[in-house]
Amino acid sequence: MVYDLAIIGGGPSGITAGIYAARQKMKTVLIAKSFGGQMAHKTVDIENYPGFDKISGLDLIEKFENQLKGKNVEILSEELHAIVKENDSFKISFEDGKFINATAVIIAAGAKPRKLDVEGESEFLGRGVSYCTTCDGPLYQGKDIVIAGGGNAGFESAIFMQNYANKVYILEYGPEARADEENQKRANENGKIELIVSADIKKIQGSAFMEKVVYADRVTGEEKEIKAQGVFVQIGYSPASHIVEHLADLNQRKEIIVNHDTMETRTPGLYAAGDITDGFLKQVVVAAADGAKASMSAYKYLQSKNG
Ligand SMILES: Cc1cc2nc3c(=O)[nH]c(=O)nc-3n(C[C@H](O)[C@H](O)[C@H](O)COP(=O)(O)OP(=O)(O)OC[C@H]3O[C@@H](n4cnc5c(N)ncnc54)[C@H](O)[C@@H]3O)c2cc1C
Repeated sequence: MVYDLAIIGGGPSGITAGIYAARQKMKTVLIAKSFGGQMAHKTVDIENYPGFDKISGLDLIEKFENQLKGKNVEILSEELHAIVKENDSFKISFEDGKFINATAVIIAAGAKPRKLDVEGESEFLGRGVSYCTTCDGPLYQGKDIVIAGGGNAGFESAIFMQNYANKVYILEYGPEARADEENQKRANENGKIELIVSADIKKIQGSAFMEKVVYADRVTGEEKEIKAQGVFVQIGYSPASHIVEHLADLNQRKEIIVNHDTMETRTPGLYAAGDITDGFLKQVVVAAADGAKASMSAYKYLQSKNG
């Protein structure tokens, strides 16, 4: 059986693509290793999605999901292993050797947290090192913790961690915080958060569990350390574009280069949407809009093929 459309990803872009595909009566499969994407793991209250003054990421994604459920979209909770174009359709395969075919594909696989790539990071993963305050934050009740990264994600994580931690250090590599003013103001409200700038994290050390973060002061060159039981890495995301790097052009940040009107990649029938693309604004509203455009473009592509 050949699907009209396969959507890879269960975040806001993939789900929206699915909603639009169902309305166009395309025979659609949505493949996602887990539903929700970044919003399902984060602590943020979303205050910039139209229709809601304030809503948690988890609640918003649940509403997206509920809207998709019951529509004529088959859902496969699997991780895509490989995708190739064979003749006029795409072959999508999974770890166990199973595969499906689809005439058009939308890649909406989002992004993954970027690593520090320092000594001790992998060693202490799950024993102090984490990339997700929502998942692991409550484990750090009364502890001192470090947030690596002084952008919005770092500040939002630090603000959330005030609910649990005794002390929160934000270590920023650059000479000043990159978070917006509102986040910086909120972080200053109760004195638990301390920002340290020009800090180049060198290693994470400990024994059974991590015990300290060692960093170089980039101004003085001096090596310093912070005793902490946890470090949450919040330094950006890597797009999951490796799965289509043979089919699409990528920019330096490994984002898929698309035509932003149509979400087309360089391979006919292959579209990309959301945070995985080279769009400059990584937001839910943009991801959803990308998903809608990609779905409608795929519909036009199928129509043109069917004469
Ligand atoms: C801390 C933080 C705060 C944020 N705050 C806001 C905010 O206030 N407002 C806002 O609008 N946006 C916010 N965002 C951004 C928003 O969450 C993202 O822009 C949005 O989630 C991107 O959606 P997406 O569908 O492109 O990708 P993602 O949400 O990353 O979803 C990707 C999906 O693809 C799946 N997937 C990946 N690889 C595979 C594979 N190989 N096989 C199968 N499935 C796969 C994943 O399981 C997931 O379902 C925030 C993000 C972060 C990290």
